[in-house]
Formats: sequence, C-alpha cells, structure tokens
Amino acid sequence: MSKNIAIVGSGFLGMTLALRLADSGHKVTLYEAANEIGGLASAWSIGDVVWDKHYHVTLASDSDTRKIVDELGLGDQFKWVETKTGFYTGGKLYSMSDTLEFLRFPPLGLVGKLRLGATIFYASRVKDWKKLEKVSVEQWLTRLSGKTTFEKIWKPLLIAKLGDAYQETSAAFIWATIQRMYAARNSGLKKEMFGYVRGGYARVLERFSEVLLKKGVEIRLNARVESVNRAPNSKIRVTTAEARRHKDIKPSVLKRRTKYATFKAAAAVTAGFSGAFLTEPDLNPGKLVTFPRTEAGEIFDHVILTCPSNIAAEMIPELTRLEKNDLASVRYQGIVCASVLTKKPLSTFYVTNITDDAPFTGIIEMSALVDKRDLGGNSLIYLPKYAAPDDEMFARGDAEIEELFLGSLERMYPQFTRKDVVEFKVSRVRQVFPLPVLNYSAGLPSMKTSIDGVHVVNSSHIVNGTLNVNETVALAERFFEGMTI
Ligand SMILES: Cc1cc2nc3c(=O)[nH]c(=O)nc-3n(C[C@H](O)[C@H](O)[C@H](O)COP(=O)(O)OP(=O)(O)OC[C@H]3O[C@@H](n4cnc5c(N)ncnc54)[C@H](O)[C@@H]3O)c2cc1C
Repeated sequence: MSKNIAIVGSGFLGMTLALRLADSGHKVTLYEAANEIGGLASAWSIGDVVWDKHYHVTLASDSDTRKIVDELGLGDQFKWVETKTGFYTGGKLYSMSDTLEFLRFPPLGLVGKLRLGATIFYASRVKDWKKLEKVSVEQWLTRLSGKTTFEKIWKPLLIAKLGDAYQETSAAFIWATIQRMYAARNSGLKKEMFGYVRGGYARVLERFSEVLLKKGVEIRLNARVESVNRAPNSKIRVTTAEARRHKDIKPSVLKRRTKYATFKAAAAVTAGFSGAFLTEPDLNPGKLVTFPRTEAGEIFDHVILTCPSNIAAEMIPELTRLEKNDLASVRYQGIVCASVLTKKPLSTFYVTNITDDAPFTGIIEMSALVDKRDLGGNSLIYLPKYAAPDDEMFARGDAEIEELFLGSLERMYPQFTRKDVVEFKVSRVRQVFPLPVLNYSAGLPSMKTSIDGVHVVNSSHIVNGTLNVNETVALAERFFEGMTI
C-alpha cells in the first residue's frame, strides 16, 4: 500500500532513498535545510566555473555510485584518468606514484620503506575488521611499520584527517582506507585510475532532481526540519523552522549557462518553496523574506532522517534517553575546505599528502584529473583543513583563511603567485564524518527508533568503510531493502 514518507536531508543518502521509495509507489517529500540539493556533494560556482564544493572522485570499484549514475542516464559520461600522487615532506615535493619512486623516497631508509609497504599489503589482506576496532591505530601501525615510520609518515597523515582524535581512533580506520585504495587497483583498470562525470556533481544532481520530480517526489528547499513528533493514529508530524527563500516564488526560469550545468530556478515544486535546485549559496539577504512555518506541521506514515546523529537527537524529543545518548555520542570531524581557481597549475599530482606543518591538511588538484576545458582553462585546487567541530578554524573569516592558505602555498611552491588566483572560496561543515573511535560499531545507534515509523540512518552507520558516495548509496540501498513498510 502506498505510504506517505518524509525524508530529512537531500544528500546522496536522502536522494537515493527517495528514488527507491518513489519507484515502489510511495509518496515522498524530501526536506532540505539548504537552498540546494546534494549536501556534501553539492556544487557551487567559482569564477565562471561550476564545480563541486568539496573535491570528489569516483573509483572504478565504486559499483553503487556507478549503478545510480547509470540509472540517471549519465553512465557514459564518466571520464577515467590515471592520476599521480605527491608527497610534500621536509620542504620538498616528491612523486610517489609507482614502486620505483617509493623506493627512492628519501625520508625513509630501506627497512622503513619495506615495513611501510608490508603494512599496506598486510592491511589489504585482513578480513576481520571488527578485531581491528579494538586496537588503536597508533599501536597497530607502530607494531607493523615501526616507530620511525609511524612518526615520519603515518602520524602526520592521521593528524591531517583526524587531528588529535587519532589517539582515540581504531585501526579499522586505516584498514578501511587501505581497502578502498586496493579495491580501486584491483578493479580491472590500471592503477590509480580515478573518474568523474563530465560536468561534475552539478550535472549529476541536476539530473537526479529532474528524475525525482518526474517520479512525483516533492523537493522542499530552505526547509529545515525542526522537530519530528508522534501524531494521532500512529502518524508522524514533521515541523519545519521558519524558512528563508528568494522573494520571487513564482515559477520562473533563471538560466546561468555554463558548459554543462544550467542553473534553474524553475517550476516551484510546491507553492511557497523556491524550487531552485542549484542556487548560489550566499543569498543576498536583501532579497530574502521569511515565511511562517505551519504550526501544525505535516503528517506522514514514515520519516527517515539522514542528517548527522546529534542533530537528529535534538529533533526527536520523544526518543528514549538511551537513544538520545547513543545518537549524541557519535562524535564528528568537520572541514574547512577552500577552493582556489587559478590560472596556472601547482603540480601534476591529484593528491599531495603533506607531512610538514601547513595550515591545510593536503592539496587536491582537481585539474590534474578534470579536463581543463571543463574548468574554463583554469586550475582548480582544493585546500582542506579537517578539524573538530569546535576548532577555532571555524571562527575565522574568509579573508583571514585566504591570507593564511595562499601565503603558505606561496612558500611551498615558488612558482605560485596569488596574482594568478581568479577566485578563492571557503566551505565550512562542522559534521562531515563520524570519528571511528575504539569499539565504534558496538555503540552504534540503531536505525530503527522506539517510535514506530521514525528512522535515523546516516554516515554513522558506515562501519567498515570510509565516507564516500559509494558507501552512502550502498547504505541507502541496504536500508531500503530492510525497511518494512
Ligand atoms: C571534502 C570532502 C571530500 C569528499 N571526497 C569524496 C570523494 O572523492 N569521493 C566520494 O565518493 N565521496 C567523497 N566525499 C563524501 C561524499 O560527499 C559523502 O559520502 C556524501 O555526500 C554523503 O551524503 P549524505 O546524504 O550521507 O550526507 P550529506 O551530504 O551531509 O546530506 C545531509 C543533508 O541533510 C541536510 N540537513 C541537515 N539537517 C537538516 C534539517 N534539520 N532539515 C533538513 N535538512 C537537513 C543537510 O543540509 C544535507 O544536505 C567527500 C566529502 C567531503 C566533505
């Protein structure tokens, strides 16, 4: 029987669930707090270019991502590229893209290199990840690689992603990272082949929203869900916060043509919602109006929350104390991620790992992967700084971050000059991925709550993998298969 289902969050998890549920004949409403769909995978414009707010690649082994992109009719738009990896250490940039380069890598002696290689190979063969959840990543890597290699290589890399929380992180984290790397290499394509859909995630999301609308999914943007409560007759009430939207709510078409993505503020999905699927994130406050929430909320048979666990805990007041504790105890790592559109490339490496002190924790040169013609002939560089949600980095303004990051790039790369920078933009997200602390899966909140019809499913339920679109889509498929409606 067709049910009325609300999904909170229009990231890949929410959208995949919306697709599957709509295909099964249910009436689906997708609530999104932002003024665009896509969550972490959403796109924005930088200079004249439209590209992902956060760097994204697809691996050849990402079968769930590839399946959904195929379903959206974009499977033939993948471009696969052999990429290179760099290592910035001791003030110098090294290529680390093949065995020979690895053997020449100066910071480690031969024994250190052999132990490092053996550690990676061993981790790729381990199957029982649950055992690794009981051992700290520091202990495990030191035992396998030795103290010097841990201090010189592993520790800076762990700190880059996890900050000081690496000390509480289990070995399952590095195992999952190495497994993903190996799966990519064993997928039939040559090593280090990374892929992207031409036009980036803007294009995928644009198509995704079109498909969802065609299937009758109602997409509400600027619709932050404030609370989810029990309602009479075993129904669930969803109440949104006072929302902000563009003044013009009339269906109108606003096209900003780029090579692949067309920004549309078209066909208001529901009266009162903008229907703009991809809009500029920094809306001009002068053009915004607020409209009152419907006090009564809206009634559904099922509500699926895909937002971070701690947000979900606050949203559902009728959960038991234990459930709230479980949800609130998931700790997240956030990110301050700068996009730099510049006229000249930095290097030929897609990823450059950094073991020296730097204000960012790595360098991702998207233009080492993406055809420069898709980037208006420019280079697109991401400078991520992973940080705890309460890190002082989140309080810094764009201008301060720009000065800090570009100053550091100038010192690291003598040929880099900020005169070439076309635009510098900063994205801040306080909850990106749950910290894989010791015994993580044992304390995992259940996806089914004590309130019939209310489900919480999000990246905290990815227990033996890293955060990526493939794991996210796979989680959505798993949840949908197991959902009894
Ligand atoms: C820097 C970075 C690099 C990455 N690189 C890659 C990569 O190379 N390859 C890859 O495959 N993946 C990559 N990922 C991961 C990928 O982006 C995620 O796996 C995926 O986007 C997660 O989707 P999600 O739906 O689970 O969560 P999200 O995308 O976070 O979606 C949750 C949504 O819920 C909304 N929301 C929150 N609260 C409310 C509320 N109260 N009411 C309504 N809506 C709400 C949010 O606005 C958001 O849109 C990367 C991520 C980051 C941040």
